[in-house]
Amino acid sequence: VDASYKRIAEVEDKVQAFLTLDEERARQAAKALDDNLDATKGLLYGMPIGVKDNIVTKGLRTTCASKILENFDPIYDATVVQKLQQAETVTIGKLNMDEFAMGSSNENSRFQKTRNPWNLDRVPGGSSGGSAASVAAGEVLFSLGSDTGGSIRQPAAFCGVVGMKPTYGRVSRFGLVAFASSLDQIGPITRTVEDNAYLLQAISGLDPMDSTSANVDVPNFAGALTGDVKGLKIAVPKEYLGEGVQESVRQSVLDALKVLEGLGAVWEEVSLPHSKYALAAYYLISSSEASANLARFDGVRYGYRTPDAENLLDLYKKTRAEGFGDEVKRRIMLGTFALSSGYYDAYYKKAQKVRTLIKQDFEQVFEKYDVIIGPTTPTPAFKIGEKIDDPLTMYVNDILTIPMNLAGVPGISVPCGFDGGLPLGLQIIGKHFDEATIYRVAHAFE
Ligand code: GLN
Repeated sequence: VDASYKRIAEVEDKVQAFLTLDEERARQAAKALDDNLDATKGLLYGMPIGVKDNIVTKGLRTTCASKILENFDPIYDATVVQKLQQAETVTIGKLNMDEFAMGSSNENSRFQKTRNPWNLDRVPGGSSGGSAASVAAGEVLFSLGSDTGGSIRQPAAFCGVVGMKPTYGRVSRFGLVAFASSLDQIGPITRTVEDNAYLLQAISGLDPMDSTSANVDVPNFAGALTGDVKGLKIAVPKEYLGEGVQESVRQSVLDALKVLEGLGAVWEEVSLPHSKYALAAYYLISSSEASANLARFDGVRYGYRTPDAENLLDLYKKTRAEGFGDEVKRRIMLGTFALSSGYYDAYYKKAQKVRTLIKQDFEQVFEKYDVIIGPTTPTPAFKIGEKIDDPLTMYVNDILTIPMNLAGVPGISVPCGFDGGLPLGLQIIGKHFDEATIYRVAHAFE
């Protein structure tokens, strides 16, 4: 905790990863562990961790980087936060993000722009940009992010750290402020694959408070790090190395495949033919779910309330108009439109059908192969300001991470080289609930 706060003092004014820091609270938690030295140690005893600001922490402000929750003090801890306490980590603070996790650059935060520690003119990625930047800058060893369409893996790739989106259902979402409930998953961001395996271990498992959490055994993920990938079958979708993917990124994936070949794995090109519809389906489904989930922010129950409402309807309208940022409003409007009668079948239902086709693409490939490999992002980190005025250009950046959320399968991003001093990420995707194989491959490659 000392080291963590020392590093924060050195670099935080440049990186700006944290929205809330509570040093006294962290020191008290560390002292409580020190005072109890004889007790059996938790899995992550004493490790300093940062938590994305859409995961509720009792008594520690949780804003979702939104004005509407600017002064929201949760009255309970998310299940993952309770599990971190059991593992005996020490929470250092809450991390910046795009407002309500909508974005790919952290520029949609209502409060500050986090910067990429490798190059302060570049974005850290998003929406878990604070989570990735804080680990990359050495401010914390571990962090938690959330991933609805790439928000753990894309910032991990941009910041040169390891980020895992677990299988949908692996980790409880209780206490994660919902963006798109059928896509959201919490996951670990760390410097090494081994750390990542330990952190996922600590937060996984069935939770009676989340009916979508799965009753599936949690294996010893760190035990899977054998270094042995002999005979492993890798599928490389041609759609992930095609048009729009920068040459340096393509080359870094081919180099990674050579390394894995050298270790005894084999790879073949495959096709995921419905990938090209993933982006459209994702923005319909996620915005539809967001429009329903964000209906609860009405100025009555949580957070911000407009100071000058004339009646109840006016209170709702002004609170939401003043409290939400532009991107959040854009998604609520798109989602409300897609769900409205007359359009439901044409848009929402059709997007759900496409989602099934995408899921089937993955199932077919996984009948023959152990993992799928491709890049995490089409380019390295872009410049701050470069895409913010054009939402569609920003959306396209997530083209390689969104299909996994639609299919519910797990995926990791691990560092795999540099382009012009900026890190690149390799994405390894596995079968449902087979994070262990992903870790084995990532560790052998690392
Ligand atoms: N960038 C994507 C979006 O804006 C994904 C966000 C996420 O995974 N939370 O929706």
